[in-house]
Amino acid sequence: MTGLSEKQLASLRKKLDRREAELSAELASINNEAMEESAHLPPLEAGDTLDQAEARTHETIRDGEALRDALELRRIADARARMRNGSYGRCIDCGTQIPRERLEVQPSSERCVPCQRLYEAHHSA
Ligand SMILES: [Zn+2]
Repeated sequence: MTGLSEKQLASLRKKLDRREAELSAELASINNEAMEESAHLPPLEAGDTLDQAEARTHETIRDGEALRDALELRRIADARARMRNGSYGRCIDCGTQIPRERLEVQPSSERCVPCQRLYEAHHSA
């Protein structure tokens, strides 16, 4: 059992849908921008101009955003899979019930707060 009612699950599922649509749109626009920019980039010549260096920096920042979006999309898909197999709402590390308030804020949460902290402590730079 997930400890969530059908109604709560349905509302969380809707949130996942909305977030997924947002992220997909964001990713699509990032990709469009990238394509437009690369069409306007001057041909590369020997040596790096400041502009080119700057363009590359922007690209890196944008790639970071795209990566975050893609990761969140991945988490949303995982959350959906957990809804299907009935494990949604439980921490994937310790199996404890994730507080509903946390799920409301971030429906794709996969860990309880203590486990998430631990995970981030080990995985963030
Ligand atoms: Zn946990």
